[in-house]
Amino acid sequence: MHLAESLKSHRVEAADVSRVCDGEVRVSPVKFVWFFGMLTGACAGLGTFSLGAFVLFVVTTAVVLLLGHSLGSHRKLIHNSYSCPKWLEYFLVYCGVQVGLDGPLGLMRQHELRDYAQRLPVCHDYLRHGSSFWKDAWWQLVCSLHLYNPPKIRIERRVAEDPFYVALQETWMAQQLPWAVLFYVWGGWGFVFWGVCARVVAGVGGHWLIGYFAHNRGEMSYEVRDAAVQGRNIRWTSLLTMGECWHNNHHAFPGSARLGLRAGEWDPGWWVLQLLRRWHLAWSLRLPSDLPHRTELVLLRDVDDPPDEIASTSAAFAPLKGALPRAV
Ligand SMILES: [Zn+2]
Ligand SMILES: [Zn+2]
Repeated sequence: MHLAESLKSHRVEAADVSRVCDGEVRVSPVKFVWFFGMLTGACAGLGTFSLGAFVLFVVTTAVVLLLGHSLGSHRKLIHNSYSCPKWLEYFLVYCGVQVGLDGPLGLMRQHELRDYAQRLPVCHDYLRHGSSFWKDAWWQLVCSLHLYNPPKIRIERRVAEDPFYVALQETWMAQQLPWAVLFYVWGGWGFVFWGVCARVVAGVGGHWLIGYFAHNRGEMSYEVRDAAVQGRNIRWTSLLTMGECWHNNHHAFPGSARLGLRAGEWDPGWWVLQLLRRWHLAWSLRLPSDLPHRTELVLLRDVDDPPDEIASTSAAFAPLKGALPRAV
């Protein structure tokens, strides 16, 4: 199988395309009970609405998506796109587990399989969000893909053998319990329904929804040649997704700590990283210019000058203008 250079050092190792294409989608009893259980709790929350419970929902959802999913699970654990003290990494990844998608190792495996499969010329509809809207919802929320001959996914020892991450993987669902007890003592069942159930439904449901649109509709600045599916930028969701919606940029530069690359591409995760850098809590933040050149990457439209407030990083954009081939 011909592989792009960037795939040769991937965590996934597949001898041929069939290893990541041939399989069947089956209902996962664990995902089914987890999602519909939380959905039931969220519906019960409608009958116990209070301003306090709603504020708890908004604040906890924002914290777990921004610090947890975006900065902890995705930009740090999976892509290692910046450095930070170990205690901070643990805290951020712990917050990521609170989203309710999976444990850190499970999340990493899912992400890597998807990332690898999407860069090949053919890709299973499950891994590329290629089915109809409702079928994709059913698949992603309560089903799993069972590959007949799954590829090897190598997770580095720094993560795979870390006792904290192993413990989080084994207990990721139970990690909601201490918060449920705390919220119950604090504000009764209303706080549990809104602070846990509705938050998990918003996190898991939102993760699917943005995944669907980010592979089907939206703007493109770059094309990854010969890839089965392209990432899309969904501009209006930049604040809701903490910057994760710049998925076309992410497909182009997966190892970049910054996802919103141009003026107007709001990226709350990057804003927080800059704050952490100012406080000496994050360093070695990787930008597109720090990543190896990819021959399969094509620039589809001009890269605007970055805004003044990030001028300190503007050098990172200079190579993008000249180095990438242009689409005709
Ligand atoms: Zn993608
Ligand atoms: Zn990623």
